[in-house]
Amino acid sequence: MKSGIQPSLINDPFGDPGLLAQLPLQKQALLFDLGDLSALSNGTLLKVSHVFISHTHIDHFIGFDRLLRTLFGREKTLTIFGPENIIQNVQGKLAGFTWNLVEQYSESLTIEVVEVRESGLLKGTFRAIEKFQLRDEKKESCADGQIVDNPVFSVQAAILEHRVPCLGFALQEKPRININKNKLQSMQAEPGPWLNKLKQSVAGNAAESTLITVPFIAAGNFRTKNISVSQLKSDLVEVVPGQKIGYVVDTVFNDRNRKKIVELVKSADVFFCESPFLADEEERGQARCHLTSRQAGTLAKEAGVKQLQVFHFSSRHKDRREQFYNEAQEAFQGDAAVTMTAAVTAAKNISARL
Ligand SMILES: [Zn+2]
Ligand SMILES: [Zn+2]
Repeated sequence: MKSGIQPSLINDPFGDPGLLAQLPLQKQALLFDLGDLSALSNGTLLKVSHVFISHTHIDHFIGFDRLLRTLFGREKTLTIFGPENIIQNVQGKLAGFTWNLVEQYSESLTIEVVEVRESGLLKGTFRAIEKFQLRDEKKESCADGQIVDNPVFSVQAAILEHRVPCLGFALQEKPRININKNKLQSMQAEPGPWLNKLKQSVAGNAAESTLITVPFIAAGNFRTKNISVSQLKSDLVEVVPGQKIGYVVDTVFNDRNRKKIVELVKSADVFFCESPFLADEEERGQARCHLTSRQAGTLAKEAGVKQLQVFHFSSRHKDRREQFYNEAQEAFQGDAAVTMTAAVTAAKNISARL
């Protein structure tokens, strides 16, 4: 069975940056950055439960209003994570509108905002019913940058440098525990709440000797049998490993960032990495605190990711789209890519001669 998370860039790599991660099984969606959201339907935005903001430069935060417009008047809690100052940024956005009619709505939107700081987390809550006044500010600790941990996924954040703090994120899907229906049938066991107990025991690493009461109906007779978790696990359970997705934008290539990024996105299945500049623009990248295509490829290689997807290309290079991909891929694959390119060129030369 395929992974439960479906990540995709919201816009073309020359458009505003942003990633949509859909979780179809949970009818849920996550957004990384809120740039131009016009490509997303209201139906998709209504599924968004968590938003992860790297920083609030306009191309990463202009879409807040669209999301608010879609969710306002709904009974829903939206959680927004962002760097230091994100509570004030959200407060400023909300203060730009007049909320005197909120009492007329029976459903009320709640926005929880979480600042990710070096010292830990700072949380604040804005409720539509209270005209979005900031309430319940509190500090919380945060171990190893883990900012979300629930039964379906976890998210880790790293504070990177971009002249302002800019967050990089790693989304880790939890392994999914499935029961093989065919095997259940051939075992002649009756489905029931015991299957959830079994799933929970496997997920929670319960002792292998733990017994679960399994109901059977054979020849019209009902009977039960106590079977160990280890036996049921090997007979019925399929564990689908979770996917890891990395997301890094707007950051400078230096030793500190490099170390943090490689650690954050280590072995990711897909690494979405910004690449506004071309390989020969390292100086420009340093001055503007952005990565080049080659630097994105180098980070991906060092982190041992399975797939690299570069984006957030500078509009100065609209006609050089392929160059971004080629340079990033060459650095990512190292010698293999060079050899491959050489082989393709040689093949082209041969066919040109024929
Ligand atoms: Zn940007
Ligand atoms: Zn920026």
